Amino acid sequence: MSEIKLGIIGGGQLGSMLCQAAKKLNIKTIIYSDDVESPAQNFCDEFISSEYSNKDKIYEFAKKVDVITYEFENIPYDTLNELNKLKPVSPKPSVNRLIQHRLAEKDFINKLNIRTTRYVHVESKEDLLPLGDFLPGILKTTTMGYDGKGQYPINNIEAIDSLNINFENEYILEKLVKLKKEISVIITRFSNNKYEIYEPIENTHEDQILRHSKIPAEISEKLSEQSKEWAILIAEELKYIGTLCVEFFIDRNDNLYVNEIAPRVHNSGHLTINAYNVSQFENHVRAVCSLDQIPLKKISNAEMINLIGDQIVKYRDNPKVNDNQFLFDYLKKDIKEKRKMGHLTTLK
Ligand code: ADP
Ligand code: MG
Repeated sequence: MSEIKLGIIGGGQLGSMLCQAAKKLNIKTIIYSDDVESPAQNFCDEFISSEYSNKDKIYEFAKKVDVITYEFENIPYDTLNELNKLKPVSPKPSVNRLIQHRLAEKDFINKLNIRTTRYVHVESKEDLLPLGDFLPGILKTTTMGYDGKGQYPINNIEAIDSLNINFENEYILEKLVKLKKEISVIITRFSNNKYEIYEPIENTHEDQILRHSKIPAEISEKLSEQSKEWAILIAEELKYIGTLCVEFFIDRNDNLYVNEIAPRVHNSGHLTINAYNVSQFENHVRAVCSLDQIPLKKISNAEMINLIGDQIVKYRDNPKVNDNQFLFDYLKKDIKEKRKMGHLTTLK
């Protein structure tokens, strides 16, 4: 086959790492992002910046590429759908539409007989008042949330007024799970119904932002098998093509819940770059570009720590790390509080 050109929508660090994986496979990358400052422009072969609603630019982008994928889920469905008429988009736009809506996503998971947190649709303050049974809980916008954005922890009904909730948005209220641990399972599904799955990753969050990930996760064999089984079922049911991540909660009684699905490569899988023979990024590129599947082999145990906000500064001043460590600077110009600036993986 002649040289493949992969179009990627979104220009953050996930886009950058997809570009790096594609380069290794001799695939050219073209990024489309609505942010002119996108860090992925440092890693792609060509960069186009415009609004996602700009039909002319979207068309120009589609003409240049053979296949299209995306690195974040909050892309307007219409944009993905228009693109899919011109060039194949993987994962399918309908998958993205389902998962970018927290209510539709949770309904879908429950239909598969997979446990989620208890949740209820909230469209007004009046809806919230009789929901004491769901408290303490977290009110989450149904769309556009990430890294804890658009979320309000609610302890009791009396607290609602002081939270200044914007009821122009739609929400779900989720009962708070008494967390023992959080894990994630990353799976790549290929077009021939085959898949590669990574072992469960144990994650620690601070302020609802991922801080630390490690393999192996310290969980029972039973939970490990159950989480992988559920991830496979979800990927199959969606007829998914590419890499997908399922985030799980484990409560103090060792019950497993699916928290959410990310229809893309995932922050907790950054350690797969160094800990496996094929990373989540390379597997995603292989799946969406219909390249060969390579049996997955783990090389090493590992842990990854996110460098958030000014935590990147000391590594920019002195980037030297140990031989078993790998530093990634996302090359974001502005250092902002709570912004993921880079990560450090240590092989164990
Ligand atoms: P985001 O889309 O921002 O990643 P999540 O729903 O994954 O949103 O929430 C981010 C984090 O907040 C979770 O990883 C978890 O640590 C905490 N959290 C969210 N919902 C709940 C819940 N129902 N019970 C306990 N912790 C929660
Ligand atoms: Mg999450």
